Amino acid sequence: MPDKKNNNSNVSDLQESLLHREAEINLLQQTFTEIGSELDLDRVFQIVAERARELVRAETLLIPILDENCETYTYRAGAGANTSEIVGASLPLDFGVCGWVWKHKKVWWRGVLDELSEEERNRWEQAAGTLILVPLQGKKHFLGGISAINKIGNHEFTRRDLNLLTMFAGIVSIAIENAMAVKQMEETSKLNEDYRRRLKIINKQLVESNRELEFHALYEPLTSLPNRSLFSDRLSRGISLAESSNSELALLLIDLDRFKDINDALGHDKGDELLKEIALLLQQYVYPNDTFARLGGDEFAMILPDGNKKAVTDRANALLRALEKPFNIHGSTITVGASIGITVFPEHGENVTDMLSRADSAMYSAKKSKQGIMLYEPADDHSPLGHLTMVTDLRKALSNGEFELYYQPQIDLKTNEIIAVEALGRWVHSRYGLVNPDVYINELEQIGLIEKYTAWAIETSLKNAIEWRDSGHTLKVSVNISVTDLLNPEFMASLESLIGSREYGELLVFEITENLFLSEYDRLFEVLEYICYLGITLSIDDFGTGYSSLSRLKRLPVSELKIDRSFIKDMEQSQNDEVIVHSTIELAHNLGLSVVAEGVESNETLQRLALLGCDTAQGFIISEPLSFEQLNALLDGSQIKVS
Ligand code: C2E
Ligand code: MG
Ligand code: MG
Repeated sequence: MPDKKNNNSNVSDLQESLLHREAEINLLQQTFTEIGSELDLDRVFQIVAERARELVRAETLLIPILDENCETYTYRAGAGANTSEIVGASLPLDFGVCGWVWKHKKVWWRGVLDELSEEERNRWEQAAGTLILVPLQGKKHFLGGISAINKIGNHEFTRRDLNLLTMFAGIVSIAIENAMAVKQMEETSKLNEDYRRRLKIINKQLVESNRELEFHALYEPLTSLPNRSLFSDRLSRGISLAESSNSELALLLIDLDRFKDINDALGHDKGDELLKEIALLLQQYVYPNDTFARLGGDEFAMILPDGNKKAVTDRANALLRALEKPFNIHGSTITVGASIGITVFPEHGENVTDMLSRADSAMYSAKKSKQGIMLYEPADDHSPLGHLTMVTDLRKALSNGEFELYYQPQIDLKTNEIIAVEALGRWVHSRYGLVNPDVYINELEQIGLIEKYTAWAIETSLKNAIEWRDSGHTLKVSVNISVTDLLNPEFMASLESLIGSREYGELLVFEITENLFLSEYDRLFEVLEYICYLGITLSIDDFGTGYSSLSRLKRLPVSELKIDRSFIKDMEQSQNDEVIVHSTIELAHNLGLSVVAEGVESNETLQRLALLGCDTAQGFIISEPLSFEQLNALLDGSQIKVS
């Protein structure tokens, strides 16, 4: 007969065990729901740790996971007592019970001790008697384990606990593996993203440095203009195009005059600044289909797709005129001239080398002859000319008084009497003899000595004019004034100390070249007014070569015009020039200006000018420029006989 009491206790044990089962199943279900929707790996580890601890009622539960390096494992999560010190710690792969589990891929629990050799049992019993550790085996990889330490209430873990934890581990390991895979994917894609971003940056840098490289290969850094390589390429392409379309093409080689000396005198920084300014200025004269380049140093070049010689020469002239305007570089007023050599395809050359070398030779001829512009002539001297280095000589010349003034008479065309002289500078050079002003005036301007020279010229002219007046010859003396002088802020003060009173001022005429008034009118107005205030006559020199109209001159305090000798020279042969001279005289008179014709070389011209109503004449037919002594001798018989 079965014992009833015993039966009852069996039933309540069963009930209790069923309740346990239910609780365990609930817990497992809850865990799977939680981690099934959780993709954050650390969160998954934490949930697993907490639920596993509840499941086997452990004081402490830890999740050791193998590291990617396959040499260590790390406690990635923990629940219960003392976990904060352990979580995060990494240990060598073979260390402790974990090491044993990794090696054998088997669970660890107390019962394992029975399977060990005595020696090993002694070694492990102490430390590992109160823990169970089950492996976390993913589908693809061995992941790590779940380690439960000390059963709550001083109990020992049972086989059931072990089975439960093993089952738990079997199920959660898939969720863990998934979360690990997601994390890995995330990391890889983050890496990918980073990599892509870095790649983008590197690409951008590459593009930029490529562009820079390309720029340096084709453009020169100071002016950002095409360099010689790009220029040659464009020229070669231009030639092919002109050849196939049976058209012409022009090459202009522009070389600054004495740039080296400016560089030496002012320093390389200012020299560079000047080159930049020049490049900017000349760029304004470049049409869309032209190429404008800096070939190096002070050498620029242009390719014009139109080879018409007249049009090309006009454009070269426009460049030279633009360069006549002084530049202001950090307070220094600098005047640069230039020489331009021109070649036209196919007449002057049929390839890049010939076109360039012949333009170079034409440019040297232009420089040598001081013509400014030269079209290539096969007869040109091809060998580069030596440049006269005069800078030191000029400095010495100024302090040693090597300059002299020559005076060229001007006669009144009604009375044929000498009424004025033009003071023309001459440099009596110990080696070269008399050097004409065309050679050294530019030089003096560029090295900043023109102010000193002009002061000397004004002082000497005035001194001689006073001497002539005192000996009974009232002559006005014309002094050529450079643009640089007028733009110098100290010029007015120096005039005041040189001339002082109107009595002396009225003995002088200042000749100023026409082009000056185009761009600098406003800046010059004050100084021109002051010149007039001192009683000095203002005269426009070389009239007709520039662009100022007479109506523009009306607004200036000018009272004399000197018609450029290029018009006077050809008056006899060219009807056109005579018409220009005639109408200039008429218009000038209407504006109240007197007219001087310069460069008169024949009696016919002289008489014609008198008939046209010109007031004054100057030229070789009357007299060449004379030294002070020579002029004095001439003044003795001051009536000039013109047949
Ligand atoms: P400019 O003021 O037009 O001077 C006239 C130039 O024509 C002088 O040349 C003179 O010798 C030359 N000439 C005079 N009559 C005739 C002629 O019948 N036929 C020809 N073919 N030429 C004639 P020069 O003395 O060589 O002077 C050249 C230029 O240098 C002058 O041109 C003037 O602009 C400048 N210059 C001369 N002296 C000075 C000076 O002291 N200061 C400045 N700033 N410039 C000066
Ligand atoms: Mg003159
Ligand atoms: Mg002149």
